[in-house]
Order: sequence, then C-alpha cells, then structure tokens
Amino acid sequence: MEARVDCLCGKCGVTLADGKAKLQFQCGCQDCRQALNYGYKHGGVKPDPLPKAYYMPSDVLEVRGQEYMKACRLRGDDPDVLGMSTRVYCRECYSIIGVDHPIYEDAVFLNFPKHCNNKGDLSAPLTAYVMMIDYTEDIGPLPTEDVPLFTTGRFQQELDRIFSIPAVAKTFVRSEVPPKGKLFSSLIEELGEVEILGLAKGAKP
Ligand SMILES: [Zn+2]
Ligand SMILES: [Zn+2]
Repeated sequence: MEARVDCLCGKCGVTLADGKAKLQFQCGCQDCRQALNYGYKHGGVKPDPLPKAYYMPSDVLEVRGQEYMKACRLRGDDPDVLGMSTRVYCRECYSIIGVDHPIYEDAVFLNFPKHCNNKGDLSAPLTAYVMMIDYTEDIGPLPTEDVPLFTTGRFQQELDRIFSIPAVAKTFVRSEVPPKGKLFSSLIEELGEVEILGLAKGAKP
C-alpha cells in the first residue's frame, strides 16, 4: 500500500509505492547518532540513545517540496564505507526523510520514524541491534530485547552472520521489478550537490 513520509513541518515529503517497512534495526553507530544530533541541534527531534531504523522499499511515486530538501554527508571522502550514507534533511525542520547507502542496493532506504512523519506500515519487528561497538555506557542503558546483536560491519565473518538472517538477506536485494516511481537514490541525485557537513568522526555536532 502507498504511504506518505513527510517532514514534521510539512514542507516536504515523499509518497512511497509500497509503504511497508521490510526490516527494523536499532543502530548504535556513532554516525547515526551524529547525524540525528546534527538535526536536533538545528531544530529537529531529540534522538533516542538507540534509534529505531526502518528500511522502506525504495520506490518514490511523488516528491513534495523538493526545494526544501537537502542531501548531506557527514564527511567528504570518508575512507570508512559505513560513512558513505547520504541523508535527506528538511531545510526548515531538520526531519530526516531518508538515508541512502551503497549497501542498500537501491532496494530500500533507511528511515527513522521518530525523526519524520512516516505513515507507512511499521509492523516489522526488531530484527537485530547493529553497530553496537560505538554504543558506550555513557550513551544509554543496555539493550534488553532478545534479538541478535552485532558489534561492527568491519569483519566479513560478522557481515556473513548478519546476512544469514533471512529478513536481512531479503531486504538488501535489488528488486527484479522496476520501480513504479523513482529510486530514493535518484531523488538524491535530483537534489544536486551533496552538502558535506565536515563533522569529524565521532565528534559532537
Ligand atoms: Zn520540514
Ligand atoms: Zn547507524
């Protein structure tokens, strides 16, 4: 079913051809935290210690208020593959509409429902805690759900283990059916130049 994802001030948003989230993680990585705190500092919502990350099918039927969207990366030529996320913020309210990363294979994009108005089906259960190496004790309480927990994406053995979870393997596979609308990565391309925020790895924004 179609669903809208809008920013919290209502100036911009997208309509997805399929609004059912395919997967939910909670991510402990410093980059998610830094990007969400960057939004918070500019008027966005205060992030939770372990943000809920939902992966939405990358098929955008309609874009509203594109002039209010900006694409950002935390750093320039980041040698760390995990730093290659491109995030689409609302310029007014600093909601995050979505995040693209090469590992998503244009199958999905990442969305934080706390940081926008995601009207999709978010019934996907928590599948795993990921990137917990960055989640130190000063950030928040210990995670309590009885699901697999992964520390990094650095080691192939650990990546193999996470991709051995069927829900994960199914999520990051490019669809054989062409999208009805456009890919989230195409939307990012249309936004033009990506703003480099120049935040040092792990630094407070
Ligand atoms: Zn907004
Ligand atoms: Zn993360």
